Amino acid sequence: MIDLRSDTVTKPSAKMKEAMFNAELGDDVFAEDPTVKKLEEMVAQMFGAEAGLFCPSGTMTNQIAIKAHTQPLDEIICDKLSHIYNYETGGWAFHSGVSIRLTDGVNGKMNVKQVEELVLPDFDWLPNSRMVCIENTVNKGGGSVYTIEEMKNISDFCRTKNLIIHLDGARIFNALEVLKKKPIDLSGIFDSISICISKGLGAPVGSVLVGKKDFIKRSRKIRKVMGGGMRQSGILAAACIYALENNVTRLHQDHERANKIAAALQNCNWVKKVLPVETNIVIFEVSDSTKTAEAFAARNIKVQPFSPILLRMVTHLDFTEEMLETVLTELKNMNL
Ligand SMILES: *Cc1c(COP(=O)(O)O)cnc(C)c1O
Repeated sequence: MIDLRSDTVTKPSAKMKEAMFNAELGDDVFAEDPTVKKLEEMVAQMFGAEAGLFCPSGTMTNQIAIKAHTQPLDEIICDKLSHIYNYETGGWAFHSGVSIRLTDGVNGKMNVKQVEELVLPDFDWLPNSRMVCIENTVNKGGGSVYTIEEMKNISDFCRTKNLIIHLDGARIFNALEVLKKKPIDLSGIFDSISICISKGLGAPVGSVLVGKKDFIKRSRKIRKVMGGGMRQSGILAAACIYALENNVTRLHQDHERANKIAAALQNCNWVKKVLPVETNIVIFEVSDSTKTAEAFAARNIKVQPFSPILLRMVTHLDFTEEMLETVLTELKNMNL
């Protein structure tokens, strides 16, 4: 089976397991796990932030950020394609008692003007506009990338309106690869950043939230009340450190392979449209996504239905050149 449903399907490599096996451990609820501390400091330093917090998932790092930055009666602004809006079980309402207002961006990317239009005046009958969340890359936007300048423009606007700005950087390393930038180039733009290590970087579990010291202190308490206080979690943090040290510089391969798949899809007469491919995500339109996914499955290729007419393929660490050749050949042979 060739699994292209998501870049979360990767399994830890032998070397990653070795790093996990050899990790120095302690009880992180007592803040005594040296490997967790090492990861948190490492990521904070990379992004030019004061502190970091290791969490089990990117949903948790996003939801903690919303909780820490807002209070009930506040409102957050996201794009209508955002992960926070679509795939986090409505957590903004559940955890934080805030409302949400959505931009209608281009492939999930909002611009300053769209944000400006959604910021509410201060009336008793309106929620308080409090926080803007952008996503880079945008998963549901086909892996679209905000440039540093685009992010900075939105951030500058937020500062003038006293709005918090958060980055859902689940795939920020994919974006940085395309932009030829370093994590430190994001320093000062955001109040908080959520980074997933379990996506394209190939760790089995783990996301890191970074921000100011007092924000992380509060986030640590929120993580605990959400049930995310972990004990010898250095065994997982070790995988994340390994991933950051070894699996970042290869991301361009995933992007190149995604581009080749997109080009092959363009030549299929049963494909109606392919979203522009910028990173490792290919989203394309067919007449019936369930039927098409079954046709792929019959050829031992797993793809992800994303709507009744959209399918997603994501390239990743465990998707090899050989597998790419197989997929390209199958695409030539498929007749729907
Ligand atoms: C995967 C993802 C997350 C977090 O997902 P988890 O599965 O909870 O780790 C957040 N934002 C985006 C854009 C994602 O793709």
